[in-house]
Amino acid sequence: MANVTLRSVRKTYPGGFEAIKGVDVDVGDGQFCVLVGPSGCGKSTLLRMVAGLETITGGEIDIGGRVVNQVEPADRDIAMVFQNYALYPHMSVYNNMAYGLRNRGMAEAEIKTRVEEAARVLELSPMLERKPRQLSGGQRQRVAMGRAIVRQPKVFLFDEPLSNLDAKLRIAMRVEIRKLQRRLNTTSIYVTHDQLEAMTLADILVVMNGGQVEQIGNPLDIYQKPATTFVASFIGAPPMNLMPLRADELKSQITGADGAGIVGIRPEDFVISSETASGGVALGLTVEAIEHVGAETFVYGSRQREEQGVAANPGELPPGEVIVRVPGVSGPAIGERIRAVAPRDKLHLFTADGRKRVG
Ligand code: ATP
Repeated sequence: MANVTLRSVRKTYPGGFEAIKGVDVDVGDGQFCVLVGPSGCGKSTLLRMVAGLETITGGEIDIGGRVVNQVEPADRDIAMVFQNYALYPHMSVYNNMAYGLRNRGMAEAEIKTRVEEAARVLELSPMLERKPRQLSGGQRQRVAMGRAIVRQPKVFLFDEPLSNLDAKLRIAMRVEIRKLQRRLNTTSIYVTHDQLEAMTLADILVVMNGGQVEQIGNPLDIYQKPATTFVASFIGAPPMNLMPLRADELKSQITGADGAGIVGIRPEDFVISSETASGGVALGLTVEAIEHVGAETFVYGSRQREEQGVAANPGELPPGEVIVRVPGVSGPAIGERIRAVAPRDKLHLFTADGRKRVG
């Protein structure tokens, strides 16, 4: 069994910066946990603490039933895959994979078995004699994974392993990593700032912000019921529309909006219609811009009865801007006036400070 449990984990860097402010996470045996959040939120710090590459200021990290706070990295039974691969350029693929095992004094016959098996799984068998410079980026990334696999660790740790790859390869490798992890059934913790990568890989998603856990759970639950406006705008692209609810036409439209200060609506939950949404929201918009991306179209509208004041999440949507997703390539024209309607059960209601979901 290799559960990984973090209890009230804290990290203050020398100099006094508090990078992790008390984090609790429980990753079950064989689960794939993804830490996601914006740059600087502390996800790499947290992963490095699990790896033993950073000291722990407070709390406990437990791997496979053993508190590892004082255990050396080499004795934690983990293997880490980094974004820069960290391959030895002068060594062949075979020797790159074998290196860590030789260091541990493993017999050559056992090393050969493990490297050949990993190469087979990763489709690297024909390339074992090549040097890293003779491989593509995706193949190098697979060698880096092979090096982790041959160790047969209790836990894999991934630090943005795909961030050096181009968009197409990232998607292909993302699928590969998930298939591989399902096959090996090894408990994994994966760091990324890419919310789509996080959504598609995770059994458990941990959304971090400012050194704390903002929300933790199943990715689809988080998408459907974000706990805060931070999560609502971070998970999902384009982001959820967030609008302040004041004593105006919007609040009077929505049933059960008492206690709420912000309403959120995902772009795909609007329909363009002349009907009214009973108990929901109907917004009059002027179309400002249109993005055709093939299977869908994003319509950027400005609210006609625009509220004065700031957007709920500064930096996410300008005040008064609303994004509507329309399936296919049809859609209104720039300058056209439309009505975007969302039913009551598609609305997300938050307190005015955005820290709490209220409906
Ligand atoms: P990114 O996606 O940019 O890598 P991250 O979420 O992984 O970001 P961390 O690298 O964990 O963030 O850093 C968290 C915070 O701790 C940042 O504000 C960073 O500046 C700070 N930090 C990281 N390393 C140190 C250090 N050695 N000394 C002091 N502060 C540090």
